[in-house]
Amino acid sequence: MTLNPSRPVRRADRPASFYDLPLDELEGRLREAGQPGYRARQLFDWAYAKLAPDYAAMTNIPAALRAELGETLPLAAMTPLRELVTDDGETIKTLYRTGDGQLVETVLMLYRERATVCVSCQVGCAVGCTFCATGLGGLTRNLSAGEMVVQTVDAARRAKELGRPLTNLVMMGMGEPFQNYAATMRFVGIIHDPNGLNFGARRITISTSGIVPKIDALAEEPYQVNLAVSLHAPNDELRSSLVPINKRWPVEELLAACDRYIAATGRRVSFEYALMAGINDGDDVARDLAALLRGRLCHVNIIPLNPVDVLPYERPDPAGIDRFAAILSDAGIPTTVRYSRGVEISAACGQLRGEHQSQRVEV
Ligand code: SAH
Ligand code: SF4
Repeated sequence: MTLNPSRPVRRADRPASFYDLPLDELEGRLREAGQPGYRARQLFDWAYAKLAPDYAAMTNIPAALRAELGETLPLAAMTPLRELVTDDGETIKTLYRTGDGQLVETVLMLYRERATVCVSCQVGCAVGCTFCATGLGGLTRNLSAGEMVVQTVDAARRAKELGRPLTNLVMMGMGEPFQNYAATMRFVGIIHDPNGLNFGARRITISTSGIVPKIDALAEEPYQVNLAVSLHAPNDELRSSLVPINKRWPVEELLAACDRYIAATGRRVSFEYALMAGINDGDDVARDLAALLRGRLCHVNIIPLNPVDVLPYERPDPAGIDRFAAILSDAGIPTTVRYSRGVEISAACGQLRGEHQSQRVEV
């Protein structure tokens, strides 16, 4: 049959799953249900440290409680629908279906030294960057913290099956994390908990298109996560034409927020730069970018564009990419070029389309 996405269910009507609950909230629930105090930690250990795939696997939990939890608190709020593998088995995309029929994508990338999961935080995106597939259909809805946790736990389990620990996490899938800030921070809190997955904050990178108030908010959070800012252009005219929210928070305000963040945290900011032929790849643009960023505790990550079939942008040729990177490096700006994984299976940056693809998914 063909899967037609149903209308999203309002958040208040969506049941919470186990993965939505931080340890203290789980403890509260279980205490109310008359369970002993240690039960929540036991469950957390099964779900996160042992990566149990379901309650049935949690063998030292009483069967009656397991059955009751299965009825009242499903472990996961969404389930994998299919998996696509490419890059000689080193890039694995999982397509999920949520409880209300939305489609969400997650990508696991295996490198020699690390295994990184790219997590989605929304179905679609309201920002609408002109070169990005996710933004094409606007925002359908935010994901819950639990829906982000599932992606992470499943990736950790998949990596483990392949004999690898999951080492890094990037919020660079579908959606704008800073337009779903509360759920994103709740998610970070859950996976960071040392009683559970114990995922180090320094191994987590949150990428934003530049929602200034939330950059300031992140600086106040207790977690030492990394911040990546999608800059893509050194001036307002060009940036506003690519990243529409630049009209609300222009380059100067964005960089001022980054400076406040660096001053408050002492942590380096990464600037992402999707390089597009004839758009933002000129030598003069590279020099302007270098001048703009000079003296900042930062790093530039050039992402050669992944062309999206219905959009007019193209990737520069390799010589053009090298030249742009060299101008930045020569000007003293730490620069790397990051080619996306998973291009063949539409798993690369900007290729995740979720709801759009659902029109074509056969299940
Ligand atoms: N919404 C957040 C995070 C998700 S996108 C953000 O915009 O930062 C992760 C990165 O991929 C961003 O830098 C984004 O601009 C970039 N990206 C989007 N579409 C792309 C494409 N077609 N090719 C290359 N990079 C793209
Ligand atoms: Fe949204 Fe990021 Fe895509 Fe822009 S690049 S539309 S902010 S997901």
